[in-house]
Amino acid sequence: MRYVWGSATHQGMVRQNNEDSLFPDKSGESDGPAVLMVADGMGGHIAGEVASRLAINAAASADLDPDDRVAAANRAIREEVARQPDLEGMGTTLTLVELAPDRTARFGHVGDSRAYLYRDGELRQLTEDHTVAAEYVALGHISVDEMDEHPQSHMLTRCLGLTRFVNVDRIDLDLDPGDRLLLCSDGLNSMVPPNEIAKALANGSADEAAWNLVEAANKAGGHDNISVIVIDVVS
Ligand code: MG
Repeated sequence: MRYVWGSATHQGMVRQNNEDSLFPDKSGESDGPAVLMVADGMGGHIAGEVASRLAINAAASADLDPDDRVAAANRAIREEVARQPDLEGMGTTLTLVELAPDRTARFGHVGDSRAYLYRDGELRQLTEDHTVAAEYVALGHISVDEMDEHPQSHMLTRCLGLTRFVNVDRIDLDLDPGDRLLLCSDGLNSMVPPNEIAKALANGSADEAAWNLVEAANKAGGHDNISVIVIDVVS
């Protein structure tokens, strides 16, 4: 099995810095195992960048499973806050996928970054957002279409760095040749509707698709940092 990916990140059109972190931050390929991830940091001053970078570095290390990677990321942020108390309150989302040589994918997810599967021309969101607005949808208070416009659409109910333990969403998926996976921070999906994301995934190499998505988010206003990893499952 061969996996080919394209990674793209951009600060967007409004923000002065980029608090997202990506792994790997360059395009590449692998027969598996491979781990790829997107983290969207938050916190004042430089804290968001520190949190997402710490999370990625901790989660990338060693032979961990998705749960342990996320736990290691959370621990790394907590330890840094213990060393530098002025960083208290920094946190990050983390959405990661482990790709195995046997064509299976294992996801670990906390926050409102997302993983999607693009298969046979259809885009399916694999992860659930851990936001107040998403909880309102689950409770039937608002519709899915109202979610992104909701004032609390970006208010997280779960993230790394704020608590000692964190609940991790786990998803396992069998992949088919021709599948495309997408990992992204909310700077993409808050600016670009699903049908436009699907259209961008329909064409080009993984690298081209990743940059086309970043460009689409910037053309729509680029209100947030944008990070995208497109992964092709090559037969
Ligand atoms: Mg964001």
